[in-house]
Amino acid sequence: MGVFERMQRAGHEQVLFTSDPESGYRGIIAIHDTTLGPGLGGTRIRNYGSDDEALVDVLRLSEAMTWKASVAGLDCGGGKSVILADPGTIDREAVFRAHGRAIESLGGRYHAAEDVGTSPGDMASIRMETSYVTGLEDRSGDPSPLTALGTFHGIRACAIQRWGEPDLSGRHVALQGVGSVGLHLCRLLSEAGVRLTVADVDPERTARAQREFGASVVSPERIHAVQADIFSPCALGGAISDGTIGELGSGIVAGAANNQLAEDRHGDDLERLGILYAPDFVINAGGLISVYGELRGKDAAWTRGKAEAIHDTLLGIFRVAGEQGVPPAAAALRVAQERIDAARRNGSHRGSVSPSSGRDIAPHHPRSGPAGGADPKP
Ligand code: NAD
Repeated sequence: MGVFERMQRAGHEQVLFTSDPESGYRGIIAIHDTTLGPGLGGTRIRNYGSDDEALVDVLRLSEAMTWKASVAGLDCGGGKSVILADPGTIDREAVFRAHGRAIESLGGRYHAAEDVGTSPGDMASIRMETSYVTGLEDRSGDPSPLTALGTFHGIRACAIQRWGEPDLSGRHVALQGVGSVGLHLCRLLSEAGVRLTVADVDPERTARAQREFGASVVSPERIHAVQADIFSPCALGGAISDGTIGELGSGIVAGAANNQLAEDRHGDDLERLGILYAPDFVINAGGLISVYGELRGKDAAWTRGKAEAIHDTLLGIFRVAGEQGVPPAAAALRVAQERIDAARRNGSHRGSVSPSSGRDIAPHHPRSGPAGGADPKP
């Protein structure tokens, strides 16, 4: 399938392929939808197997950012960028500065943030070339604590939905990926009296969870099958796939990872199996809320409150799912799309945002409607 066909299928507005031969930088910036505001989303660095793999990744991730921002009630759109490089061999500052120049060329339609493989230091390198970047050390910094906080409150909402009360004490959570978010989430769950079983491809990570939270450790290949109350994917995408879905050992799937469903149909499969699924782009919005707060000049109390509100947002999604007889993932997409449609109807799109002032500086004229119709798939 050609690039334009892929863009139009999911309704992407713009994709920028960009390179800087001197530093070896090769990047793709995807802007999915700016109806609610400028595209805001992380920069991921990865040694992709092919250019095509990177394009698929950035298109999918940027689309999910549109739905994430919409459901969380934020006035920003969906964007994401990827840098195709082996992180171990590059001149990081040169590569991230080149990325910054590419972002600057978009004039505020895309704002970068930290993501898998990148750090506040990398954001500082981008900042040397453009002000359209968030997640800086001296500002909102690492978004993972807020992502973990939102996910924790989302898990409590799942407990209400499944067991009628939010109390997690004595429950057992099988957590996949004890990285930045996973470790913070382990701490919150442990403080709430949860018994933890964890897995990670990095043994130092699991050893830390064992030491600090008394977590049991299983192999990464078996974590989804652990007999627990909740399976919490916090590693990379695709945790729920044809290979794992029939082996799931928990009645709830609720974690921070992006793109947890290998394919959209797995949301329907979870529903058929009676497994409650917290749509990833709803429960993991804390990180986006963190960088959005920085972009709009909000204080820490605002961002914390907004992350805690994921609890109520998720319960609202479960309610809509019940009323409309659809799985939660489909309900979340409908809720997200409805807000965007309403903004288009009202002409209340937000334009681009000056990072220094947080004010709207230039109206953007969104396209008239989504290419994928009223029920897009992330
Ligand atoms: P991270 O890189 O710090 O942690 C990921 C962890 O998963 C690492 O410890 C890694 O070793 C482990 N891992 C990788 N493959 C694995 C496998 N097959 N089995 C078990 N463990 C494996 O990343 P992070 O920032 O903690 O993000 C985790 C997930 O949450 C990602 O999907 C990310 O896109 C998503 N997310 C993160 C944020 C954020 O604020 N950091 C926000 C929203 C969503």
